[in-house]
Amino acid sequence: MTSVPEEIKKVVGNTEGPVSMILAGVHGDELCGVSALQEIFNSLEIERGTVLYGFGNPRAIATGKRFVEKNLNRMFKPDADLTDEEKQSYDYDRAQYLKKYFDTAEALLDIHSNPWREEKTFVICEKNGFELAGSLPTDIVVSGFDAAEPGGTDYYMNRGGKIGICFEAGYLDDAFSRATAKVAIENFLEARGHTTRAILPRAQKKLNVFKKGLSRSDAFVLTRPFANFEALKEGELIGTDGAEEVRAPRACHILFARNGKFKGDEIFLLCDETKPEW
Ligand SMILES: [Zn+2]
Repeated sequence: MTSVPEEIKKVVGNTEGPVSMILAGVHGDELCGVSALQEIFNSLEIERGTVLYGFGNPRAIATGKRFVEKNLNRMFKPDADLTDEEKQSYDYDRAQYLKKYFDTAEALLDIHSNPWREEKTFVICEKNGFELAGSLPTDIVVSGFDAAEPGGTDYYMNRGGKIGICFEAGYLDDAFSRATAKVAIENFLEARGHTTRAILPRAQKKLNVFKKGLSRSDAFVLTRPFANFEALKEGELIGTDGAEEVRAPRACHILFARNGKFKGDEIFLLCDETKPEW
């Protein structure tokens, strides 16, 4: 059980400057970012501007669950796009609380991790975040999530004309992901001008999500486990959806591939280097 403060903390530098926000634990089982943020929670010092930081979903973190009632990272859609059931959830209320802080910041770093036992990092952001993403410890930047999976923290920031960046630090919580989460925070603070340290921007591969796979039956079964960003050949079998085969429509990379138990389950994302029409 991990107990974290509910309130967002604010630290102000000696000179005026940008306003940024850092979040961890929007998903309560992704503890590497939570650990990284706990380490600096009471000691963060910056030189310029204002940094707001805290824990996305404290109640979910307390129970080690991804969310309490609804996926918090889908609650940032406009109210008209949410169901009554969603709007009655704790997670929706938490989103409203966080939005007040998002509205005062110009850029957000939201630290996530995932159940794939891989030492692999990537950034999720749209084109407006590419420059900032260049400072983060990863070689892969994926865009297209605002269209494929709307309602995240980054989506909310981008819709408001700000910069929303999601950093995927690796496995849910291990030594690698805790270390990369920490470097991501440090480099974000530097790239945003809050601290003065030398970091070299990285050349990064840019991928764009062009398809979100949704289960059409109550039994989508992967043909085998897929590593994140594993290359697929055109026509390669991904899995079977009920009696139907699901294949890659063209050569591409697969992300977040998992079995589906209910119709409408998110079962994979496909991305490639084709430039979207921004
Ligand atoms: Zn997450």
